[in-house]
Amino acid sequence: REIGNQGYFEYYSEEMGRNAGYKLEMEQYLRKALENEELLLNYQPVYAYQDGEINLVSAEVLVRWNSKELGCVGPDKFIPIAENTGLIIEIGNWIIRTACQQGAEWIANGYRAFRLAINISPRQLRQYDFINVLQGILSDTGYPAEQLCLEITEGILIEDDQYARYILNQIKELGISLAIDDFGTGYSSLSYLKHYPFDLLKIDRAFVADLDIDKSHNQLVTACILMAHGLNMKVVAEGVETADQLTFLADHSCDYYQGYYLNRPMPAQPFEALLK
Ligand code: C2E
Ligand code: CA
Ligand code: CA
Ligand code: CA
Repeated sequence: REIGNQGYFEYYSEEMGRNAGYKLEMEQYLRKALENEELLLNYQPVYAYQDGEINLVSAEVLVRWNSKELGCVGPDKFIPIAENTGLIIEIGNWIIRTACQQGAEWIANGYRAFRLAINISPRQLRQYDFINVLQGILSDTGYPAEQLCLEITEGILIEDDQYARYILNQIKELGISLAIDDFGTGYSSLSYLKHYPFDLLKIDRAFVADLDIDKSHNQLVTACILMAHGLNMKVVAEGVETADQLTFLADHSCDYYQGYYLNRPMPAQPFEALLK
């Protein structure tokens, strides 16, 4: 491999070209993904300690794309493309509807109540009729708003603070709860969050992963839990991968736990088996 300036430049632009080409290709296939039924939903359990027992209290809905042409593509790759192209509206509405249908079926089959948590990207929130879409899905499926939570990253709060407050309050009025996702990775401070109607705070898994390594992160996580409780929010730790992390979090009054140590995300059927 050449290391001269010119050589580097050629290598770099070729690489970028390949990337742009791949993205275009992905976009093209993504447009067909819904009608070809290539998207499916996984569910990852979230637990709480209640009376010394660990109980399932909710499930995060995570989309998967099994592309005929590209194979399995992770949401980290295709959600940004769906966002940039606007495809996220159609895909996102399908995700909410499908999850609520599934949730209503589980209720009808007599499984105990738990919450479904759905990730909502900023562009979905800016949909002019988003509230109508939510209302329509809830009434069509019969899924109770009280058992639905929407996970939102702080991007939208920074982009358009006034609109964010407006739309989040509208969502709350439907009886749906709200979580701030990936907390700690962006710019928002806890004091900033008190201006919004969040019920839950999800500590990003990067902080959970660092619990065993870096003592300063322990303090950060414990301060975060205390302050969130002070603001009347419950705390979810995501990315719990070890028993030590779980113990530490439980000892410091974290409310809910999610991660590979407990369960990986799974399709509806194995999740249902877990509910039994
Ligand atoms: P996220 O909302 O932070 O979701 C949590 C991610 O952490 C998921 O990755 C989950 O599989 C992974 N995870 C859970 N437990 C562990 C663990 O113990 N260790 C590690 N290393 N990872 C763990 P996934 O499913 O690949 O999703 C990635 C991101 O894609 C999500 O991050 C979310 O931002 C986005 N995403 C996924 N599904 C949807 C969706 O339906 N709609 C939208 N808008 N975004 C979605
Ligand atoms: Ca999430
Ligand atoms: Ca997260
Ligand atoms: Ca994340």
